Amino acid sequence: MPNTAEDTIRYLMRLLECPVCLEPMSSPIEQCPNGHFLCHECRALTETCPTCGRRLKGYRNRLAEEFSMYLLAVQCPFSLFGCTKTVFPKDLKVHQEGCCFRPYECKICKSQLPLANIQHHFSTVHPLRILTLPVLLDVELDSNGRGHSVGCAIIAAHGRLFWFWRHLTEFSLFVGVQNCDGAPPPTPTATDTAAAATTNNEEAPTFMYRVKISDTNGHRELCFTGPVHPDGPRQSELVEQGKCFGVSRRFLLNLLDSGVVQIKLNVYAARQTDNA
Ligand SMILES: [Zn+2]
Ligand SMILES: [Zn+2]
Ligand SMILES: [Zn+2]
Ligand SMILES: [Zn+2]
Repeated sequence: MPNTAEDTIRYLMRLLECPVCLEPMSSPIEQCPNGHFLCHECRALTETCPTCGRRLKGYRNRLAEEFSMYLLAVQCPFSLFGCTKTVFPKDLKVHQEGCCFRPYECKICKSQLPLANIQHHFSTVHPLRILTLPVLLDVELDSNGRGHSVGCAIIAAHGRLFWFWRHLTEFSLFVGVQNCDGAPPPTPTATDTAAAATTNNEEAPTFMYRVKISDTNGHRELCFTGPVHPDGPRQSELVEQGKCFGVSRRFLLNLLDSGVVQIKLNVYAARQTDNA
């Protein structure tokens, strides 16, 4: 018999192991007419008790369910960063993926910080990198169409945040916009207030981005419109998969008259008409 409190907990936890899958059981917990337990998932696979063979009748054991609630629920691993949730092991993965306190990588400085702090991080560490729409940007190139421009900034628009990045390699220029998921919406500016008011729906609207690249006179231009990318993939993945805006150096050379090509970028809700 158990002596210490720890022994007791270990003993009870062993009792809460399903005899079939050996996983800790959580509510609902089934029992046979003889009182043997079985987890809900394994119950779905059998009509008879795996311990005594009696026919299962769909009885639950609420005492075991209560015990499992107290014994098995674990604190979210991001409690260090402020999460106060306790969850069952089987729900942990889903919770962690959506936890507001999960670590999040700032695409600008690559530092890892709790998602809940990202807004504060942006406004204190990168205040100059928060842009509003439309974004107008000049990319400088030498006469061979080469240049070095790798940049990432945040766009505050439509009551939310987006990542905006550009990457100029030896052969091509890439531009992409990604959702900045989970980050709380920025404090709305006067121009944003109307949009922010409409984005409080439960269903997140989808956003599109339009990149227009042109010479300084606006005579020649190239347009790209595509859905804003999810937050997850790295910039290099989107480039490799050809999902973002990409233009070859040959094309850039055609645009080049004063050593500069202009990028104009807009982000708009998918249903709205594009006025980029
Ligand atoms: Zn089981
Ligand atoms: Zn039984
Ligand atoms: Zn959490
Ligand atoms: Zn940063």
